[in-house]
Amino acid sequence: MQIAIIGAGGVGSAAARFLAQEGHQVLLLEQFTLDHDRGSSFGESRIIRRTYPDRLYTQLMDAAYPLWEELQNDAQEELFVRTGGIYFGRAGHPIVSAVEDALQSIGTAYEKLSAAACNSRFPGFRLLPGEEAVYQADSGFLRASACVRANVRLARHFGAELRESVQVRAISRQGAGWLVEMNNESIAVERVLVTAGAWTGSLLAPLQLPLQPTRQQYGYLRIAAHAEFFQPDRFPVWIDAGNNGRSSFYGFPADGHIDGVKFAWNDRDDPVDPDDVNCNVDNDYTEALQRYAAVRMPDLSSDVVYAKTCLYTDTPDRDFVIDAVPDKPGVFMISACSGHGFKFTVLMGRIGADLVSGKTPPYDLSRFSLSRFPAQVPQSSGT
Ligand SMILES: Cc1cc2nc3c(=O)[nH]c(=O)nc-3n(C[C@H](O)[C@H](O)[C@H](O)COP(=O)(O)OP(=O)(O)OC[C@H]3O[C@@H](n4cnc5c(N)ncnc54)[C@H](O)[C@@H]3O)c2cc1C
Repeated sequence: MQIAIIGAGGVGSAAARFLAQEGHQVLLLEQFTLDHDRGSSFGESRIIRRTYPDRLYTQLMDAAYPLWEELQNDAQEELFVRTGGIYFGRAGHPIVSAVEDALQSIGTAYEKLSAAACNSRFPGFRLLPGEEAVYQADSGFLRASACVRANVRLARHFGAELRESVQVRAISRQGAGWLVEMNNESIAVERVLVTAGAWTGSLLAPLQLPLQPTRQQYGYLRIAAHAEFFQPDRFPVWIDAGNNGRSSFYGFPADGHIDGVKFAWNDRDDPVDPDDVNCNVDNDYTEALQRYAAVRMPDLSSDVVYAKTCLYTDTPDRDFVIDAVPDKPGVFMISACSGHGFKFTVLMGRIGADLVSGKTPPYDLSRFSLSRFPAQVPQSSGT
């Protein structure tokens, strides 16, 4: 089939690879250039983990991990750095307990570490007295930009075409298929997959989707001492359960590409228009990073060696949206973000490829359907 994929980010690039590999004529359309830094999938690292306070996502990661291994093998490139990961909080923290319950419920091995045990195992990071951590060995980080580039490289190898700097403005009916209207031209295709990230809401404006782009930031602090403590073999990816789950800190070991150690806190309260984003990291944001590091990673200096903004696309319930676009048979959309979608992009690409090529993905996707937002959206014909 002739299939257009709108958006060459983490999800779109993965779907393009699977569809091209299966012999479809794939047109991957990107409004900017490949691996640009204005969306959600740019950068050196994204956490991959099974540790979720929600059994559904812990379970879905069982399907994602083999697909990441497959991509890494096909690409012949290091895309997944397995470091182990800790999800921590004060003893009895409800989110940490929920993470443990989810792992137990599907029989995934993990360790429960006291603050002392965690601090001796990972001397570069400090848990405070009374805190505890769930350690899971399969956690690590994905080299995000490299993953997107590898997907596109393989998709092109199987015949896909990437068109950069073309903004899709509309998708309109043409006979049994669809006309994808761009800047100065339109292309007729049989099926369409919308993976437009933070721009999904505006591209499908008539649906009034409850997708809120938010501006996110992150930074790297220079290592001042014991660089060996921050290397991937001695430093985990980490998530601080925080106080209420709305804004929590998370971070990475040294990634070997940017000098310093990356970490961040996800700020839910900065809604933006994706076409009008302040790309300068705020001083009070880096000050918060410096204060946090002084307590948790005292071997880091306060020098910010690199900092960047990025976009989440939040849904009200933080669940993804995977569904047919109502009243457009053959057009599907996937919005997998809310700050935790990258680890799923290869699986979302697989699911998107199945949906748009007429197959039924072997997963229960009911929690991701549009119909859960009854207010905004007319009933879909179902996926
Ligand atoms: C700071 C930060 C940290 C994160 N940390 C993690 C993490 O540790 N672990 C994790 O799993 N997830 C994490 N995430 C979330 C994850 O990065 C996203 O969920 C994921 O990248 C979303 O991919 P996407 O393909 O949906 O969106 P994108 O990568 O943004 O792709 C959408 C693409 O569509 C293009 N596009 C949009 N509209 C049009 C149009 N009309 N015409 C043509 N092209 C169009 C855009 O230019 C863009 O390239 C993080 C996100 C951020 C911002």
